Amino acid sequence: MQPGMAPVHVLVFPWPMQGHINSMLHLTAGLLGAGLHITFLHTDHNLRRVDRANAAASPRLRLMSVPDGLPDDHPRSVDDIKDLGRSLRTTGSVAYRALLASLLVDDGGFPKLSCVVADGLLPFATDIAEALGVPALAFRTESACSLLAYLSVPRLVELGEVPIPVGAELDAPVHCVPGMEGFLRRRDLPSSCRLHAETHDVDPMLQVLVSYTAHSSRARALILNTAASLERSALAHIAPHMRDVFAIGPLHAISAATALPTSLWREDDGCMAWLDGHADRSVVYVSLGSLTVISLEQFTELLSGLVGAGYAFLWALRPDMVGASPKEAIEKAGNGGKARIVDWAPQRDVLRHRAVGCFLTHAGWNSTLEGVVEGVPLVCWPFFMDQQINSRFVGTVWGNGVDMKDVCERAVVERMVREAMESGELRTSAQALAQQVRRDVAEGGSSTTEFHRLVSFIKQLSCS
Ligand code: UDP
Repeated sequence: MQPGMAPVHVLVFPWPMQGHINSMLHLTAGLLGAGLHITFLHTDHNLRRVDRANAAASPRLRLMSVPDGLPDDHPRSVDDIKDLGRSLRTTGSVAYRALLASLLVDDGGFPKLSCVVADGLLPFATDIAEALGVPALAFRTESACSLLAYLSVPRLVELGEVPIPVGAELDAPVHCVPGMEGFLRRRDLPSSCRLHAETHDVDPMLQVLVSYTAHSSRARALILNTAASLERSALAHIAPHMRDVFAIGPLHAISAATALPTSLWREDDGCMAWLDGHADRSVVYVSLGSLTVISLEQFTELLSGLVGAGYAFLWALRPDMVGASPKEAIEKAGNGGKARIVDWAPQRDVLRHRAVGCFLTHAGWNSTLEGVVEGVPLVCWPFFMDQQINSRFVGTVWGNGVDMKDVCERAVVERMVREAMESGELRTSAQALAQQVRRDVAEGGSSTTEFHRLVSFIKQLSCS
């Protein structure tokens, strides 16, 4: 902080789901490191779940919450995302406006609010802030390539390429997402571009996400958790649509020194000792993120493929991920101590462990970046949103893994896991990519330089 300059107080407001909370807490850690005051805004429901250790992490960090408007017993699962969006826009936004208004004066040692960084999936949060005279930035927690795909949807619709009819040739190339002409196929577009398999209806999320993406252009700037060296072309194509763009990722690697606990689930650290007992690069780590739900049939194919590949595996299997309780099935199938199941793993530590040889992932953006930074080859089995396009980049552009998109058959799982564990070429690409991204987040690298520029930008906005 320059002498004489008023302290800067930023309110950070993520979409209330784990992946979004993680990257925005990493941003928070970075901003705290730069001397700023942060109010981190959860929903009441999530604040009850988080590790309160965060609150004690810094006297300049304060956790607050607003209601999400849903009843306590609402599942808040991925199938109910529309309910959550609706209730946040109504009940949540009223409480948010009142909270912001109350933060416009110095209170209890915390300086007056000077800036908001809100998730791009909460456009009301930037609108309300600006209406109250508080400058607001949008943070999209997904990849730049996915954001560019959403920006391109109006043109894809005009050309009749989207929505993709049921039964259409999914391997057909897509020509008008700029910079991706050579490799993007229909199946790699965000899942909401496809018509519903049974009802043949357009996915209502498509329109929502396209309009939210367009809305980000009104924010003072767009922040992306990506690195220039990973997504240079997509960033260049996004920039003309936005007032300013900051590519400051992978944020978990930038803010590693001041990391804050991020989990809504209780992490099971016991798996670290289990990993210690394994040889280097001998274990497959399996995690499909915080939201994915799979059928019993998919579970059985995945499990059979893993067992067939013959390697020990550690599976982070949330209790709500498969309908029936599958733990016994895994322990029986992965006999001889070859399988370890936890509800929720300390994923970044797991990926960093020498025993992990590959990562079977749903290609959520945080998981993808975490795998990239550790140089671990990925087997991607994407489900929805940006996962489809992320996995295409892994398989075809970055070459740090393989893409199992739209298939879940035991023979394919077995083959892909073996390839990720055994291919020298994949491992070399994964390690080269890790080196490249580590240069981005090192002092003087593109992401760190952009992060410093972001801090100055926020300070300037706060002064004006
Ligand atoms: N994660 C974790 N332990 C687990 C599973 C996931 O810590 O057992 C973390 C993971 O490190 C990542 C986040 O949860 O940071 C999941 O975010 P991602 O964007 O990959 O997927 P989403 O959950 O949003 O689908």
